[in-house]
Amino acid sequence: MDKMRDRTRLGRMLTRDFNPPYLSLGMRDEAFSFPKETIGNYALGEIDNAGDFIVGYVGRSDTNLRERLMTHHEDRYSHFKFSYAKSPQEAFEKECRNFHDFGGAEVLDNDIHPAVPAGTKLSCPVPGCEHPNG
Ligand SMILES: [Zn+2]
Repeated sequence: MDKMRDRTRLGRMLTRDFNPPYLSLGMRDEAFSFPKETIGNYALGEIDNAGDFIVGYVGRSDTNLRERLMTHHEDRYSHFKFSYAKSPQEAFEKECRNFHDFGGAEVLDNDIHPAVPAGTKLSCPVPGCEHPNG
């Protein structure tokens, strides 16, 4: 499978789920002027020749989105998008939808399905998903 081609096709769906614009990964620190304890989702990727954001990895943090983003290295992705969530459940369910929408582990660099938030018995909201926690 040609991962990059699939990402180009699937990546165009991203704009409906994350607020534009995408930001350079080097701007992570500046982008976060909100309180430190913040729940949210993010996508890492690259910008293609047409100016589209091509997602390569999706993730979330249930406690500190900025800190989580800072664990990613700049050599792999050039840009990111993020959005806030009201609860770990909301962030988890969005991450699940992103994970499946963008092709799952076969297309994304995510090796595994999103994990459920600690201490919860939530399940993946995507129909047909056979994730063991689901
Ligand atoms: Zn799932």
